[in-house]
Amino acid sequence: MEKLSIIIANITWNPDGWRNTYTNPHAGHLYARDTPGHECLNFKFDKPIDKNGNVHGYVQWTFPPKKFLAGGIVIFYSRNLKTNKGEIVGIYGKAEIIKTPIETDYLEFGEDKYLTNIITEERFSMLFPIPLSEKKYKQIVNTKRLVPQIGFRLIDDQNLAKAIINDEIIALKRSGIKQDELKKLASIYKYITGDPYKGDLETDYDAEEQDEIIKVLNKKKEIKKEDIARELKKLKPTDPEIVILTGKTYGRDNKTIAELKFLRDFKCQICGTTIIKKDNTQYIEAAHITQKKDKGPETPDNILILCPNHHKEFDFGDKQIIKRNKEKIIFILNSTKYEVSLALE
Ligand SMILES: [Zn+2]
Repeated sequence: MEKLSIIIANITWNPDGWRNTYTNPHAGHLYARDTPGHECLNFKFDKPIDKNGNVHGYVQWTFPPKKFLAGGIVIFYSRNLKTNKGEIVGIYGKAEIIKTPIETDYLEFGEDKYLTNIITEERFSMLFPIPLSEKKYKQIVNTKRLVPQIGFRLIDDQNLAKAIINDEIIALKRSGIKQDELKKLASIYKYITGDPYKGDLETDYDAEEQDEIIKVLNKKKEIKKEDIARELKKLKPTDPEIVILTGKTYGRDNKTIAELKFLRDFKCQICGTTIIKKDNTQYIEAAHITQKKDKGPETPDNILILCPNHHKEFDFGDKQIIKRNKEKIIFILNSTKYEVSLALE
């Protein structure tokens, strides 16, 4: 997993400009959730979305973070005016910083125009329903002040971002609200770490998304396996990470896996079994030959369709790959030799 740039940025939610910072009674977390304007627009996703579906946000800084690489994470910090304590209030995953702020003309906030200087994808971005106290994170970074009053702190510590997402997931689960935002947090977690969230969530959101895509596939009349195979063959690791199916956004990885399950008839490529669920649909899993954390691509020649037993044996067993190309893989797994086709037909 390549290291992501991570910054903590200080925002004030103040809709009236910077001179009145901290004196406006309407600033603060609650206000931001309900009222768009200036930095507040960072999380009002129905407004600051451009024609490409990206969210535009704004942070006031004297100099933009030079070392921040596109695709990094922006964690938003703000001071709660009621308690006068610092809080982590939201996140942009996969963000890009625009050095010179751009004046938006596509946003319609009455007569006002707004400056924006960060662009991100909506699916990786959220205002935390429950703000997190900064205390723990100050300890992790070992600092008295998490972030300067106007500006940002560049942190190299991926574990801090991971801890923050984890904590928000736990806080949300405890509250029992906003279950749909858990799904988004799980995908941000995956974006940061490269691994699916396996912690405190009972639901496997990736599998759920794959099931939805399979439903779409099944609904198409006379769906041809050749067409799916042809489409999968053209797939490149550099293709966009999201796809739109019947008006909904899905992760491309989940679409690829769903299509492979479909093509392989939901049967384990080692033993041929499938699991029938009580609603009569079939259950099967997908294993990456080269793990995602080792930069394994999300392409058909890196994915095996396996039953849960063989999936775990493949991941955890004593495995030696003898031969591997786009057409097949030959490997020894716990002393048994297997030859599995990776061909698409
Ligand atoms: Zn099997």
